[in-house]
Amino acid sequence: MLLQDPQLGTGQPLPTPPVAHPTQAEVEPASKEDSPASPSAQLHHTSAQPLVAAADGLTFILSTGQVVLDAISGGAAVSCLGNGNAEVLETMLKQGKQMAYAYHQSLGHEIGEKLAEWLCERSDGALVAGAFLNSGSEAMEAAIKLVRQYWVECGRPEKQHIIARFPSYHGNTLGALGVGSIPSRRDIYKPLLCDKIHHVTSPQYKRLSKPGESEEEYSARLASELEDTILSIGPDKVMAFFAEPVVGAALGVMPPPKGYFPAIAAVCKRYDILLVMDEVMSGSGRVGEFFAHQAVAEGVKPDVLAMAKGLGGGYVTISAIMVGQKVANKVRQGGQWKNSHTYQNHPINCAVAQKVMEIIERDDLLSNVRARGEQLISEMTEATRDIPSVVDIRGKGLFVGVELDGSIGLKPRIAARVKEQAFKNGLLVMGLSGTIDGVQGETIVLGPAYTVTEEQISEIVRLLAKSIEEVIEAL
Ligand code: PLP
Repeated sequence: MLLQDPQLGTGQPLPTPPVAHPTQAEVEPASKEDSPASPSAQLHHTSAQPLVAAADGLTFILSTGQVVLDAISGGAAVSCLGNGNAEVLETMLKQGKQMAYAYHQSLGHEIGEKLAEWLCERSDGALVAGAFLNSGSEAMEAAIKLVRQYWVECGRPEKQHIIARFPSYHGNTLGALGVGSIPSRRDIYKPLLCDKIHHVTSPQYKRLSKPGESEEEYSARLASELEDTILSIGPDKVMAFFAEPVVGAALGVMPPPKGYFPAIAAVCKRYDILLVMDEVMSGSGRVGEFFAHQAVAEGVKPDVLAMAKGLGGGYVTISAIMVGQKVANKVRQGGQWKNSHTYQNHPINCAVAQKVMEIIERDDLLSNVRARGEQLISEMTEATRDIPSVVDIRGKGLFVGVELDGSIGLKPRIAARVKEQAFKNGLLVMGLSGTIDGVQGETIVLGPAYTVTEEQISEIVRLLAKSIEEVIEAL
């Protein structure tokens, strides 16, 4: 069921969107150090980047003829079916021929309705309605506004504050940047961000737990921190808690410790606070279930959920905002969801996303995600057993972080060097560098397409281990 009726009502104007405090995290794409050789006609420099001539499956062919194996779904954990999927391309053409575009405020269509229903049906009753936008940031922006609208409809307009986590990344628009907490991405915009956002610790059990503390005890400690923060703001003023089920870019893949989501959800319930899950990166099957919270939240369900990346498989730029019954009822009771973009519920986006999701289900790709993910972690662990600079290998499904020793003082940083070396060796990975609580974190993120084969996983492991060894040897 779609979240929004076709016609927008007038309704009350919303107050200023919430936003954030500074944090200490510094997480940057490792390729930041690269500088373009010559000016580019595009605002975002591309001249230093390798040019792609063609792509098929998990392979890129560069203009130089070099062949590159894609271990991170197009660079950002997006292309979950790889390139060149004939069925998806056919769907795109078919939908374009039938109807390329219809403005959601003027004309309805069944395609978005069908996709929303399909997703809700796979949510174990957590979600009852959704709408489709165009990027993860747009979905997060919509989530911020939606939780505000919910509390206004509840007659509690004094609820205006958001609690999110440090470090976290939730997108690049002003509202989403505010909810996130990465200074290098947000500091320049700080004067434009709302000051009603607060940050609590994002779980990093291995790094930040006390000696002898169990995962459950650590989770309980973080839930107490959340409770203390709520009490210091005033429970009547807090509208929502935002979290990624599995942290992606902010921590180089970090699944939650045992007991985290149940403990957090209990606090949210106690103080009447909505739980918003950002599944932009970890959702759409990436961690082995259609929704990431199904894989790691121990039965906890979100009130509001955002997804993007894998949803369109890289063929279309689609994201979704989905809601549970409680939020859907209130928002509808008030008349309308106050969100509208020109390309909302775009027919081609929705039809292609539907096809991507149907292929994942029909071909049982989630089983492949789980099996190949386990293979990736175990083979990577084995291949790097004698490399002390590899300090942690972790993940869920096909979302894996290979953490390198951040104490190696290098410029460019070690993750950037490994990423570059891997590329020379014919492997595309993501490299993240950042200072988290004073500790330099350096992580290579792996997230190949869900269609990845056993042989391709072994090749990813071989090329990455070789690249790490070569970088270390050259020091
Ligand atoms: N939320 C999370 C968790 C993300 O990882 C990202 C992007 O990496 C976003 C939001 C923003 O999505 P987009 O880049 O599509 O705007």
